[in-house]
Amino acid sequence: MSAHRSPFDRLRQKFDESELECRQCGYLDDDGGWRVTASRGRVQYQFVCPICEAVETRSIRLE
Ligand SMILES: [Zn+2]
Repeated sequence: MSAHRSPFDRLRQKFDESELECRQCGYLDDDGGWRVTASRGRVQYQFVCPICEAVETRSIRLE
């Protein structure tokens, strides 16, 4: 059993479980995922809407 998960893994799971909805056109992407890029102390999530190509981004600071 892997009881220990990194903060990154936890964040990732949280995002995977959240609904991904385009704020521009309302497109709801059930299967899609965030593209995740991590840099020093920060994780950035990006999603490009396949319908209207709006870009959703979330940026999270790792404590
Ligand atoms: Zn859209």
